[in-house]
Amino acid sequence: MTFSPPPQTSDKSASPSELIDPFGRHVSYLRVSVTDRCDFRCVYCMSEHMSFLPKKDLLTLEELDRLCSAFISKGVRKLRITGGEPLVRKNILSLFKSLSRHLETGRLEEVTLTTNGSQLAKFAGDLRAAGVRRINVSVDTLDPVKFKAITRWGDLGNVLDGIKAAQREGLAIKINAVALKDVNEHEIDDLIRFAHGEGHDLTLIETMPLGDIEGDRTDQYLPLSVVRARLLDKWTLEDIPFRTGGPARYVTVRETGGRLGFITPLTHNFCESCNRVRVTCTGTLFMCLGQEDAADLRAPLRASPDNGLLFEAIDEAILRKPKGHDFVIDRRAQKPAVGRHMSMTGG
Ligand code: SAM
Repeated sequence: MTFSPPPQTSDKSASPSELIDPFGRHVSYLRVSVTDRCDFRCVYCMSEHMSFLPKKDLLTLEELDRLCSAFISKGVRKLRITGGEPLVRKNILSLFKSLSRHLETGRLEEVTLTTNGSQLAKFAGDLRAAGVRRINVSVDTLDPVKFKAITRWGDLGNVLDGIKAAQREGLAIKINAVALKDVNEHEIDDLIRFAHGEGHDLTLIETMPLGDIEGDRTDQYLPLSVVRARLLDKWTLEDIPFRTGGPARYVTVRETGGRLGFITPLTHNFCESCNRVRVTCTGTLFMCLGQEDAADLRAPLRASPDNGLLFEAIDEAILRKPKGHDFVIDRRAQKPAVGRHMSMTGG
């Protein structure tokens, strides 16, 4: 089943103003978590026994389209569809297809996807046809046994097949790997060789204290400052100004010619240049990944077919965008910085 783009809602009552927060940052990037469900249970992301939102609490795909379109009319230029695992949401392709009208008008620069790759073999061609040109695929290890242990439910071969399919379709691929102490810390060289050998970028991510995972995050946390120092024994890293709109800072690895990104929310946060907000599948807007404050957009969205109330709610929320997060991972801080999992807010 597909849905047609919703009829244009009236924006007469809307302020045409763009989204500028109290610190002068221009919000031009929206990440949308289209489901909190996932077909993996990565140990740093979820607990093994998760309870998920009842379907009735979710925004429909039509409502998600309307919400994204409202942000686009307020100056959002980049959309990233994420989750949970976005490709497990039923009929998700129809959302990509309907959003592609904003690519055609040029109001939107790009729609990207973050995925665990499990469904990519099936969806790569259709994603390309719907205007997606760039995707992030999460792969923390190239060892199939370890992959199973990290993801609990995942199959590495299946993910690698998905990556191949995406590559055949001409999608630009970035591999995301969370750096995990004692787990993949001695495989970073292999991940560089693999990603760059296949022509993909690679980004390393520090594990963030989001949600209860039935384990101790201090056991997982590996500062990327340590990883970077170790890499210098083997590789020549050259800082480059390349940006994708996200928080990663990039180097070129001279020996491979490939790009390597570092996302370092703990050792060095880049909140001063944050241009992002996140909306969940229930229409909750989070102005910062690492803070609890949020705004409900579902009620104003449903209150009227006109976007006036929705715009007001978005404007008010942006005025509350905090300066930054303050993640800490150490033995004294046993509680996560925020109670919700990354799978809810969207990575
Ligand atoms: N299912 C998709 C995937 O696997 O990429 C999209 C959602 S997932 C939450 C997005 C990214 O967040 C993944 O790269 C995942 O490894 C990362 N992630 C999840 N929990 C994290 C945490 N606590 N700290 C750092 N990264 C995390």
